[in-house]
Amino acid sequence: MSDKTLFQKIMDREIPASIVYEDAECVAFNDITPQAPVHILIVPRKPIPRVGDAVAEDQGQLGALLLAAGKIAEQLGVKERSKGFRLVINQGVDAGETVPHLHVHLLAGRALAWPPG
Ligand code: 5GP
Repeated sequence: MSDKTLFQKIMDREIPASIVYEDAECVAFNDITPQAPVHILIVPRKPIPRVGDAVAEDQGQLGALLLAAGKIAEQLGVKERSKGFRLVINQGVDAGETVPHLHVHLLAGRALAWPPG
């Protein structure tokens, strides 16, 4: 039985997803249950379970997620200040984490309430 994470299977094209960006460190695709008109998941190729499990050697992957977010926001036309986007990382039960492979949510395309629920 495969011990790949769900998101590794998406990266390896074993499970279909709409991939919008990829580079040497990460892959980004549309969330299957979008919470905004733009809802992208940006995932490191390395299956770090969650942000609190990252170690010093993961610094490059962690930085790559944020750099990718800026590029994707530009690609999707939401980078300018008059629009904008939000990045979210959920860790653990209280935050609603459901997939144990680190991912950054990029949400945009509507006004996003603050504070979040
Ligand atoms: P979390 O709740 O762990 O922060 O986020 C997991 C996200 O993965 C959720 O927003 C959920 O909709 C998304 N997701 C779960 N399964 C799939 C899938 O098979 N394909 C895609 N594209 N997204 C998924």
